[in-house]
Amino acid sequence: MRNPGRMREVERWLAFVRLAGVPFALFQVAIGSNYPRGYEGWAWFITGCFAAGSLVLLWLSQRDWPLRSQTVLGGGALAFDFAIVSAYILLYNFEQGTPVRQIMFLPLVEAALRYAIPGALGLAAVSAPVMAGYELLRERRVTPHHYHVDYVTLQIGVELLMALIVGWLVQRLRSQTVVAETRAGEAERLRDQLGRRADVLEAANRCARALSSSLELDQAFDAFIREVRGLVSFDRMAIVLSEEGSAQVMAVSGAGAEEVLPPGSARPIRGTLLEELLRSGRAVYRRDMGAAEYPEEEEFLELGLRSRFATPLLLGARPIGMLSLVRREPEAFSPEEMELVELLGRLVASAVQNIRAYEAERKTVEELRRLSALRADFVSLVSHELRTPMAAVIGSARTLQQRWRELTADQRESFLELIAAETGRLATLISDVLDTSRIDAGTFTFRFSDVDLAELVRDSVASAEVGSDEVGLRAEVRDPLPVVRGDPERLRQVLMNLIENAIKYSPAGDQVDVHAYAEAARVRVDVRDRGPGIAREDQRLIFEKFGRVTSGNTRPGTGLGLFIARSIAEAHGGTLEVSSAPEHGAVFTLDLPGQV
Ligand code: ADP
Repeated sequence: MRNPGRMREVERWLAFVRLAGVPFALFQVAIGSNYPRGYEGWAWFITGCFAAGSLVLLWLSQRDWPLRSQTVLGGGALAFDFAIVSAYILLYNFEQGTPVRQIMFLPLVEAALRYAIPGALGLAAVSAPVMAGYELLRERRVTPHHYHVDYVTLQIGVELLMALIVGWLVQRLRSQTVVAETRAGEAERLRDQLGRRADVLEAANRCARALSSSLELDQAFDAFIREVRGLVSFDRMAIVLSEEGSAQVMAVSGAGAEEVLPPGSARPIRGTLLEELLRSGRAVYRRDMGAAEYPEEEEFLELGLRSRFATPLLLGARPIGMLSLVRREPEAFSPEEMELVELLGRLVASAVQNIRAYEAERKTVEELRRLSALRADFVSLVSHELRTPMAAVIGSARTLQQRWRELTADQRESFLELIAAETGRLATLISDVLDTSRIDAGTFTFRFSDVDLAELVRDSVASAEVGSDEVGLRAEVRDPLPVVRGDPERLRQVLMNLIENAIKYSPAGDQVDVHAYAEAARVRVDVRDRGPGIAREDQRLIFEKFGRVTSGNTRPGTGLGLFIARSIAEAHGGTLEVSSAPEHGAVFTLDLPGQV
């Protein structure tokens, strides 16, 4: 029995039982009769020793002893009990027909209680000389009595059997106690573990709430980091997202937050720990960054940071970034902490997804709103664009009809020219609207052939020059240009649109340059003007259906020309782009693949 608490308990109980035995012994000695001479004195003497010993042992058992002294006390108490019992047995040899020998069972049971089977067997063995002595004394003192070996063996045999039974019971009780204690310990451990998990879940819940506290990623991350601070300790923490090959730092807290990879900064992913995470989709524990393996670690080392745990932000199985915690001590993360950080990584990932989904939704709504506004503008625009030339045509026709005779030949000529020009504008407008609806329906057709773009450019410039008196036009074609496979009419439409726009937006007296050249088996045409240019934020809009810049000096138009032109360019495997700085004019570049 190695448990000092339990040993103390046994000792105290036995001390009480022993003490209870004292009045019993006094009583037995007192009512005893037929003592031979001198025996009674000895009986009282033994009882006195018994009483004194019991009190001493009771006193000793009340104190807290270290294990070693406790063991000695237990052994001493057993030896005392054995000695007292042996003394009584040997003294009372004169009694006839009393089972005095059987009181040896008491220390036997005590030995079993203390030392199980070996102790009980040991006591039975030690009691053998006492029993032999008892039998010898009886032979001497009691007449007629002969030495009965069988009395001795009977007693010892019974003691041995009893030792085996009681000792076994004690042993079994002990093993059961051990099992029960282990179970209780395990249950306690599990309960603690469960409690800790509940705490962690509660904290994780708080982190999740922090993440959903804002629809702005930066704010959500800041609130999240504040919560994490109370959950896992760190010297630096960062949330990094992977965006088109670069590591975008979204939030940072702790050491070097403003100097090393601050929030909003970006670096190429190549070679970084993030690249490793994105590839494997698994967390990486850098126990000691002493031998820096990733470029960013050198900076961390300079900040005095040594260990780093980074977990991927997983959307399902797809990593979209990482959550990284760094500490000053090497090997500073426990498995539980790492498990927790991985859980937090998942929370961050789903928050990113939610916020991005919301962002996309918001953009779609804005886009739809913008498109519907464009459409409304278009209706009023088209009706205006139709009405103005129509009014001019009707007015001119009426004048010609009513005042034909009064008008001079030149006047008639100019009215007819006006009618021709305005009906021409109407025709262009209608054909733009029709082209747009065909593009939308996917029925816009092309007739492809080999096109000499140099000739087409020269032609377009020449025909644009006809109607443009105030703005100069210059064409520079760097021959030879590769032949382009395309629809010459559609390509002419594109060039005309670009040139007419350039003229339309050029101040009087300015010049528009059209430059055609070959570049790596492609043909490029730049149309450059020196007009008001197009602000960066409008450069996407102008290529959209009905997209027009409404601020500044607007000119008549429907906003369909560039939409159609870009659609045509793309149908030829080419592109149509603009580059412009406001007040510095605009350059529209048509890029088409050449024939090889
Ligand atoms: P439209 O000229 O009929 O309005 P386009 O699609 O050809 O339609 O042009 C769209 C818009 O792009 C124009 O309304 C104008 O705001 C802008 N734009 C086009 N070309 C130029 C240019 N050369 N300089 C400045 N703005 C231009």
